[in-house]
Amino acid sequence: MNLKEAKQITGGLSSPSKMPGYAYNLPTWACVVGTKLRDVKDSTCSGCYAHERGRYRFKNVKDALNRRLNSLTHPQWVEAMTVLVAHYSLKVPFFRWHDSGDLQGADHLKKIFEVCNGTKQVQHWMPTREAKLLTLMDPAVVPKNLIIRMSSHMIDQAPVKFWPHTSTVVRAGKTCPAQETNNQCGSCRQCWNKEVNNVAYPLH
Ligand code: SF4
Repeated sequence: MNLKEAKQITGGLSSPSKMPGYAYNLPTWACVVGTKLRDVKDSTCSGCYAHERGRYRFKNVKDALNRRLNSLTHPQWVEAMTVLVAHYSLKVPFFRWHDSGDLQGADHLKKIFEVCNGTKQVQHWMPTREAKLLTLMDPAVVPKNLIIRMSSHMIDQAPVKFWPHTSTVVRAGKTCPAQETNNQCGSCRQCWNKEVNNVAYPLH
């Protein structure tokens, strides 16, 4: 499969300016837990940067996100994503899943595992708020080159205990240094580092 076909099938990757490498996103209106959290005061989704804000309000951006969402059931999605991730991670082998959006279910997660297994040269990081999916799963089945961080649902909530890798949003005590480096990761790779149990992002 060539790159053009892979992009047509999946809707392509994203390239957030903060990240060192490429990423992938889905529409926030499809977030299962996030859609419930958005209306909850002091939840980590209540000020979601990717929901009807900034460039995410534009029709072309919305259309692209919808195309990606609809492509998840394409029979060649895994193959196409594997082609894209392998190609676009050649220079910087650190890939982020879901710079917006979240897991759509167990089948979706299984497909992401297959993409990770097909791109073992790349380190993958995926945050999620889909606690139910993770509680049903043994962390040992996660591919070695993927770190799933379970995001706490509320601002200033402690990291969850049921999953080994987590992230939180805090008013004080952040461990993500991006604010000091022009809102870019720079040389930091904490989010991909399995020795870092929790990453605390500042509330903004
Ligand atoms: S902790 Fe490091 S890798 Fe993670 S988002 Fe912040 S700067 Fe980037």
